[in-house]
Amino acid sequence: MKFGGTSVADEDCIGRVVKILSHYRSTGNELVVVVSAISGVTDQLHAIAAEVETARDEPPIETFIASMRARHEKVLRGVAPGEFETVMPEIDSRLDNLRTILTSVYNLRELTARSRDYIISFGERLSAVIVSAALREVGIASRPMNGCEAGILTNGQHGCAHVLPESENKIKSRIVPLLTEYVPVVMGYMGCTGDGIVTTLGRSGSDYSAAIVGAAIEADEIWIWTDVDGVMTSDPRIIDDARVLPDVSYLEAMELSYFGAKVLHPRSIEPAMVKGIPIRVKNTFSPAGPGSCVVDAEYHDRRVVKAITYIEKVSLINITGAQMIGRPGVARAIFTALAGYDVNIMMISQGSSEANISLIVDDEHLKAALVALNDVMENGYIQDVTHDRDVVAVAVVGVGMAGTPGISGRIFTALGNAGINLMMISQGSSEVNISFVVKQSDGPDAVRVLHDEFGLSEEDE
Ligand code: ADP
Ligand code: ASP
Ligand code: MG
Repeated sequence: MKFGGTSVADEDCIGRVVKILSHYRSTGNELVVVVSAISGVTDQLHAIAAEVETARDEPPIETFIASMRARHEKVLRGVAPGEFETVMPEIDSRLDNLRTILTSVYNLRELTARSRDYIISFGERLSAVIVSAALREVGIASRPMNGCEAGILTNGQHGCAHVLPESENKIKSRIVPLLTEYVPVVMGYMGCTGDGIVTTLGRSGSDYSAAIVGAAIEADEIWIWTDVDGVMTSDPRIIDDARVLPDVSYLEAMELSYFGAKVLHPRSIEPAMVKGIPIRVKNTFSPAGPGSCVVDAEYHDRRVVKAITYIEKVSLINITGAQMIGRPGVARAIFTALAGYDVNIMMISQGSSEANISLIVDDEHLKAALVALNDVMENGYIQDVTHDRDVVAVAVVGVGMAGTPGISGRIFTALGNAGINLMMISQGSSEVNISFVVKQSDGPDAVRVLHDEFGLSEEDE
């Protein structure tokens, strides 16, 4: 069972988590818990790391440590008063480590990828210690484990490390023997390389940690506890009558998460899918609800379209040049150059005239992409590169769309009738999604128009 940041945000939240875990433990289940940092803490760690790297004057390290201490101390006192005397020194010793590394970064004014990962892993280091203490407080034997102790071995790609296959046996041998006696609380988001260097798995990576651990121990089910009732037809923050999807196939869940449904990390599906383990998504704030179940099945219900997602903070890049027409190797030159600068391409579209290729990249990769494409331009493969940051990508997802004619017609007619201009369109050959790009200001309307067009708020008959 994995609990996200909002599910462990304060004493009341952790109280709910303890209730949930006590219930499932007392009904005869062996449990492994994976936790995120307390809500907001990871963002604060990122911010302080960036600040100390560039600080001219003495940076506010002491103030930062004091505020981290105050927040965690309050939560610990609230959920585990009986454990306070033993656990607070543990938290202090972790905060001492954090202070030391922040001070070193400041002294050197150098924030390496390694040190950043170490710093941003502290949110989970602190939250897991508290959740574990809260379990002991109610008489459940528990111990915290960092990602490395839990056996999560990764490659060295700091900031978005991949878990290595060797982890499977490691995790199994370290966790399974504990389960009859303990409820281990694993720090999500982090792992380590074979040399013991701390890595992180990318933002929202605790879902990925949970899936990796669940798959390795061959859990009966992997449960993701969050702040909404399940995987929904769209982000409830934009669509207030979005509906919970009771059943979602692995493939749909992958597409949904890849195209912006933040409720599951894109890489959290595959480990479960390989082992055929169902992933349940449930609301910590309303635990009796059925939630969603992601399973190995294609639910061909009457709806071909299941959900509408959108991704912000992306940029559209247009690459043009008459010399691209009929010339082999242009696409290779473009994609090799982008790969050389570690640019991840989220969407691609090429017209049959071949004089234009459009790409969508994360805003954070835009600068590197433009440098890479400038090299390609200098080599004469392409003529012009323009970009637009003021865009969002929207995706229409559903396994039933494959082979159902008329879906794109409905999508584009509905958007046309609403006066929404499309800047780029892309459909993968799996036909599980059709995605397109619109101006940022049109994003919410586009999602709303399509949610209505496909009747996604209506209950199933
Ligand atoms: P956690 O901290 O529990 O990991 P996240 O904030 O990462 O939670 O993910 C849950 C959020 O995902 C929800 O609050 C919701 O706003 C957002 N979300 C976006 N798309 C969807 C969707 N299709 N279904 C459910 N939630 C979604
Ligand atoms: N705490 C990390 C983040 O905020 C990982 C997670 O919550 O899943 O991205
Ligand atoms: Mg999340």
